[in-house]
Amino acid sequence: MLDGMNAQEIRRRQYLDALGVTLWIPRREPIGLVPAGDYAPFEEPEIAKQSRQSAVACMDWPELERAVKSCIKCPLHATRTQTVFGVGNRQAKWMFIGEAPGGEEDRQGEPFVGRAGQLLNAILFAIGLTREEVYIANVLKCRPPGNRDPRPEEVIQCEPYLLRQINLIKPRLIVALGRHAAHSLLKTEVPLGKLRGQRLSYHGTPLIVTYHPAYLLRNPVDKRKVWEDLCLARSFVGDR
Ligand code: URA
Repeated sequence: MLDGMNAQEIRRRQYLDALGVTLWIPRREPIGLVPAGDYAPFEEPEIAKQSRQSAVACMDWPELERAVKSCIKCPLHATRTQTVFGVGNRQAKWMFIGEAPGGEEDRQGEPFVGRAGQLLNAILFAIGLTREEVYIANVLKCRPPGNRDPRPEEVIQCEPYLLRQINLIKPRLIVALGRHAAHSLLKTEVPLGKLRGQRLSYHGTPLIVTYHPAYLLRNPVDKRKVWEDLCLARSFVGDR
């Protein structure tokens, strides 16, 4: 017996997890739909959590896409229009990671397609890259309601998907876009200004941080700093 479950039940749950099927327990209603506010995620025993993470860590692209699409690991599934998996070249040298989908991304199912996305495209163009050449994803695959900040428990649930994307792509460099992405990935609270200009690392992949395009829309004067960050990034990637 482990955590009150017998070995057969643990195996059953591991198997369901490997299939991307999440168990959750409604607080009141014995059956049927649970109102979003009443969502009570199934408290995963450590052994099941590890087995889910290792199942995700072995997935190929189609399996990973299916797992993300059907994910109900955190309450954001209840308010999303659709998941936003990631887009671009799966052999990219550069991977750009933002914080979470916004309204337009939630509607279209693609990261960085709103105003911030247009600016990101322009930034890529400025350093001689195209959207098709790089890979773009977010820390969270679902939009937080009202574009609120991602919560730590949401980041924890979503991280195995991002890690698998990174391990499949094997980019030479990750560019973390903005404070939230940088803090979520690096597990730090160090201000963005102090994290810039350094070669950092995320699970062994070199990483640099820069400002989020949405921040640049509000503070265009800092575009110059992003340019400097990306020139540094280019020297790490070894392009030109
Ligand atoms: N902001 C992000 O961080 N990601 C998106 O996909 C869009 C806006």
